Amino acid sequence: MQLTVVDHPLTRYYLSILRDRSTPPEVFRDSTRRLCYTLLMEATRSFPLDEHPLETPLESTTGFRLSRQVVAVAVLRAGLGLLEAVLDLLPDVAVGYAGVQRDETTAEPSEYYYKIPPLENASVLILEPMLATGGSLSWAIEQVKGSGARDITAICVVAAPPGVERVNRDHPDVRIVTAALDRDLNDRYYIRPGLGDMGDRLFGTG
Ligand code: URA
Repeated sequence: MQLTVVDHPLTRYYLSILRDRSTPPEVFRDSTRRLCYTLLMEATRSFPLDEHPLETPLESTTGFRLSRQVVAVAVLRAGLGLLEAVLDLLPDVAVGYAGVQRDETTAEPSEYYYKIPPLENASVLILEPMLATGGSLSWAIEQVKGSGARDITAICVVAAPPGVERVNRDHPDVRIVTAALDRDLNDRYYIRPGLGDMGDRLFGTG
């Protein structure tokens, strides 16, 4: 598995805003979107391109466009916080949704919704902001593989070692792009130092 921790100054700046417990939801949402742009630049780095001829106002040159359809799969509900940046940077993206909630005692995922566009030959971006135990992400990867996905990148705001190890064990072919690899999990499976409950902080439900 390929784990990329993006250490761009802007990534670190926006992550600090997210970590700060005093950041209000509207600033948290804005900062999540801005941080996601920086993760996307890395997550899309190896996407293949087709060349095509074009005319500038001065002369002929070569242009480029993405060769493959991109599909983003938002893991509900926190993955929605990353979606706006994806739609902005990749306007032709097709979007799927994977609804999974974790059992508060075992932290294992249980599905409540799954709807995705065709995935064959697509580059798939799974939007799962908090990679804690890895149960939800591993489940989402299994679903999209079952639907034909082969080229899969997970975009995570924060990752913790148990989640990275789980995904590496279950899906060694999947790339993970994250803003930070944090220390560990607490006894309720929250990432430390982390940023708290991503969904609550995005949507003001804490
Ligand atoms: N989900 C969250 O929202 N936060 C964590 O720290 C772990 C899982």
